[in-house]
Amino acid sequence: MIEIDVRDLVGHPGTSREVRVDEPVEGLNLELAAVPEDAPVEAELLLESVVEGILVSGPLRGSMRLSCARCLKTFERPFDVSVHELFMSERADGGDEYPLDDEGAIDIEPMVRDAVLLSMPFSPLCRPDCRGLCERCGGDRNLGECTCGPAPGDPRWEALGRIRFDDDK
Ligand SMILES: [Zn+2]
Ligand SMILES: [Zn+2]
Repeated sequence: MIEIDVRDLVGHPGTSREVRVDEPVEGLNLELAAVPEDAPVEAELLLESVVEGILVSGPLRGSMRLSCARCLKTFERPFDVSVHELFMSERADGGDEYPLDDEGAIDIEPMVRDAVLLSMPFSPLCRPDCRGLCERCGGDRNLGECTCGPAPGDPRWEALGRIRFDDDK
């Protein structure tokens, strides 16, 4: 929970204030991407009072740890995501606004979590041309560790694969 007291803004449309937050956020994990829980997310947010509630906008920055979907190497990559979200005291059912509680506070953690999770790649690559691991020997093909040749299933090798298979029997 990253609570911000906005009582000074509620009910005064047109007023605004900037706030800087530098806090770790829990639950930023996908299978191949994560923001470690000890790594803070830096937010520079503009809080604007509007008739409907509080509008929160600005950049979220930090660093995520990714695992390459092809070679499994882990690497860090900075992220910079923009948010622009409304916090309302009376939310419409099914609306995508965040809550502004009766005490005049907003919890920006769910907003930060949603925005950062959405920006995470499902299939991160250590580099665009990563050659991945060999399906047969597990060697890192970027390092030239593998001498197996083209992956199985390559039409050029299918005939050979069949021959070898017959030999096994
Ligand atoms: Zn890779
Ligand atoms: Zn190999």
